[in-house]
Amino acid sequence: MSGEIWAALLRKRFGMGIKMNSTAVREEYPYLYETHLHTSESSACARSTGAEMARACKEYGYTGIFVTDHNWGGNTAVDVTLPWDAWVDQFCQGYEHAKAEGDKIGLDVFFGYEAGYDGTEFLLYGIDEAWMKMHPELRYVTVEEQYELVHGAGGLVMHAHPYREEAYIPEVRLFPDCVDGVEGINAAHHWYSGPRDKAVFDKRAVTYAGEHGFPMSAGSDIHSTALFGGGMAFHRRLRSGADYVQAVLGGEDYVMTDGKVWYDKSGRVISIG
Ligand SMILES: [Zn+2]
Ligand SMILES: [Zn+2]
Repeated sequence: MSGEIWAALLRKRFGMGIKMNSTAVREEYPYLYETHLHTSESSACARSTGAEMARACKEYGYTGIFVTDHNWGGNTAVDVTLPWDAWVDQFCQGYEHAKAEGDKIGLDVFFGYEAGYDGTEFLLYGIDEAWMKMHPELRYVTVEEQYELVHGAGGLVMHAHPYREEAYIPEVRLFPDCVDGVEGINAAHHWYSGPRDKAVFDKRAVTYAGEHGFPMSAGSDIHSTALFGGGMAFHRRLRSGADYVQAVLGGEDYVMTDGKVWYDKSGRVISIG
């Protein structure tokens, strides 16, 4: 199939005009960040170490990554019976290894984590290891209390893949009063090659975000160095996790991708590659 016919088919499928090609998008938004990434040190479901993930992401062309391993409420690789400080130390190993490698090779590595509540998950940013150690109550907080604590500390609470349907998620549960925003694009849904339509989970997430006026994020939910290329791209280089929080909450301009298609920050397709 020729490129033009393929583009026309995609236009028809997405039902809108495609404004830019992906090269133009990358020129306008050169700083690409992976916002949803797991390491084998800390996530039981991940297959590659923090250092391996950092190298793969640098090679792919990311400016930076957020390491977001599964916490005690999710698929953690860390013994949950450990005392709090020891638990946090071990939990942060994946991030630490990614950061050390990133510092060597020129990849910005920022901290975050993915908090699980019986299958419902939240991506937390703008907080760090020291802050976690000061808040041992984190282990017991409800979704509501988590929001107060993290948001109150200047952090960001994003509902991860809110409409995902999988065996490990008993039901889709929404918490519009306990989040700052929504993961609108989760690249894992788009790279799935089986018989189900998982991209529909993201369409629902984008609609949900639009209804509530929530800012959106995009990430790959990547568990190995077989990267998907999802993430968010900005006009400028982010200085820190806190800077990312400011960019998202402050309404800064950015674009999102699932590694194939580019979307504006409201989830409209702007480029099909
Ligand atoms: Zn996982
Ligand atoms: Zn994840």
